[in-house]
Parts: sequence; structure tokens; C-alpha cells
Amino acid sequence: MHEVSIALGLIEELKKIARENNAKKVTNIKLKIGKMSGIVTDSLIFAFDAVKLEHPFLSEATILIEEVPMVYECNKCSKPFEMDAYAFAMCPNCQSYNFKILSGEEQHIENVEVEV
Ligand SMILES: [Zn+2]
Repeated sequence: MHEVSIALGLIEELKKIARENNAKKVTNIKLKIGKMSGIVTDSLIFAFDAVKLEHPFLSEATILIEEVPMVYECNKCSKPFEMDAYAFAMCPNCQSYNFKILSGEEQHIENVEVEV
């Protein structure tokens, strides 16, 4: 499962953050994950809850995931628009297929709360 390796990478990142802040515990983690990142958020939470058991500093940690929608910007008329899939995306304003991605590929930690 792809999400397990992501969860393991996340834990490494949290270890670093906890160390830098002299924190005993990490309590809340907020992630931003784009719809285009290919990550299944439920699987990621499930994987994280399973691997966190081996790390006492994460015993009370909960993950909150903010899903970032796909937002494109039309290269023709410069209008931003939202679209769920990449495949048949088209500017609703001028029907152009010429656009760039503004967001939806995110995969990062937005915020971490710790207990010192
Ligand atoms: Zn357009």
C-alpha cells in the first residue's frame, strides 16, 4: 500500500519537528493533500494510526486532512476554474483545453501542534 510509505515518511518528518521544538508529544497534525496527488486520504489515516503505535510521541496524535480541489487557470482567458479530473478538463468560459494547474497536487504538512 502506497499510503504506508507516505505515513512512514510523515512520521520521520514529525520526529524532526518534535526534536526541533523539544516536544514530548505531537497532538495534532494538519495535512494538505491535493485531489491530484493520488493519495487516498482514508488509507493514509488508517496507515498512520497503525504505524504511530510504534512511536510513543505520537500516541495521542490525530491527523486532519484538508483536501485541496483541482484548480486550473485558462491560458486563453486567464479565468480560474475547478475540475475534478484532469482527463476531460476544459475551460467552462471559453472551452479552451489550454490551461495550467494552480492547485490540487499538494502533499504537505500544513500545521503541527505539539506538547512540550
Ligand atoms: Zn478560458
